[in-house]
Amino acid sequence: MEPTEKSQMLDNFITEVTGVDRKATIRGNACVFCTTPNLKFRDELSKKEYRISGICQNCQDQVFKENEDIRDIQKLYAPAID
Ligand SMILES: [Zn+2]
Repeated sequence: MEPTEKSQMLDNFITEVTGVDRKATIRGNACVFCTTPNLKFRDELSKKEYRISGICQNCQDQVFKENEDIRDIQKLYAPAID
């Protein structure tokens, strides 16, 4: 899948936080959190989220259920979502 374009600063930030290259992960249809990504996305929003963050459907479900703080990071991305 093709990653969304982000500022280099944001990409560096994501790489620092997750320890992986966001764009390379998304291009390789991989997931920044797990080694068995589920890329059958429930809806366009989830698909968009993957192209932004590199987090697969299963991990989105877990992360967003357990950690509301991540929602704030989504808000941080929001202005760049087209
Ligand atoms: Zn995953």
